[in-house]
Amino acid sequence: MTDIKGNTPYKTELEGVKEHGELFFTYYFQKKDSKEISEKLTYAKLYKDYNWIVAMGIHLDDLSIYVDNTNNQSSFILRQITPLFIFLVLALFVFNSVLLMIIEKRKSKKDNQALQLEANQDTLTGIGNRRYGELVLKDTFFRFKRDKTPVLLAFFDIDYFKHINDTYGHDIGDRTLVQLCRALEHVVCTRDALFRMGGDEFLVICSDIGGKNLEKISTTLLETARAVDISSEGASFSLTISIGIATFRESDINEQQALKRADKALYRAKEAGRDRCEIDW
Ligand code: GH3
Ligand code: MG
Repeated sequence: MTDIKGNTPYKTELEGVKEHGELFFTYYFQKKDSKEISEKLTYAKLYKDYNWIVAMGIHLDDLSIYVDNTNNQSSFILRQITPLFIFLVLALFVFNSVLLMIIEKRKSKKDNQALQLEANQDTLTGIGNRRYGELVLKDTFFRFKRDKTPVLLAFFDIDYFKHINDTYGHDIGDRTLVQLCRALEHVVCTRDALFRMGGDEFLVICSDIGGKNLEKISTTLLETARAVDISSEGASFSLTISIGIATFRESDINEQQALKRADKALYRAKEAGRDRCEIDW
């Protein structure tokens, strides 16, 4: 039997089942009370155990209603979620950008801090260098002028350091500088600062010394230096320092004036025989 288009769907079905066991095929028929031709998509399968062919079909017209419905639902859902999706993508983009910015900022802050530390640090001893010492001195003087809190400057220099270098060598001289710094770091209180101003010259800036006894501070520094024990090839030696102490004065117009007074006091300590402290009263 032929369908409306002259195809032989049942022959196709039988031949297909015979050859493949199952198949999809289509046949056409005229719609009831209409001249329109409708298409039916059919699936047929042979169940050998029962010697049955079971076939089922669906009109494409029915399917198109279902497809249209599904399409409408999909478009509706798509319309609903598209703005949300765009919002999420934008939010993700903004979040990522902000995160990247924060990471970059932190990294550059860390890099800056590392650079700053490198610029301020004495490479041999690890304490503040002259550049940093001058900066802190300036800043401390500014705060002294504003708050009037007493500030002490202890300028000191190793005694006969050339002799240490000449006798034990430059490397032991270096080690002497490092060991002296490690020892002094422990006695200068946290708000104080220890700087290597060059060669064997050091500066302690002691802020807010209200009530503290200048002689006591100098004695601590002298005794700490005396206690440093440097060993070299079985021999060991100790060292001494000479200190000049000055304080900021109301009449000072800059920090260098007090530093000069401390330097002069240090010179007097050297002249007076070393291993001692002179205070510029
Ligand atoms: P004084 O008691 O008068 O201070 O005598 P001094 O021998 O210590 O003389 P001075 O302070 O003028 O000498 C400082 C020496 O420090 C001169 C220099 O060779 C030495 N020096 C400077 N920087 C370094 C360093 O980084 N390492 C070593 N090992 N020696 C240094
Ligand atoms: Mg010296």
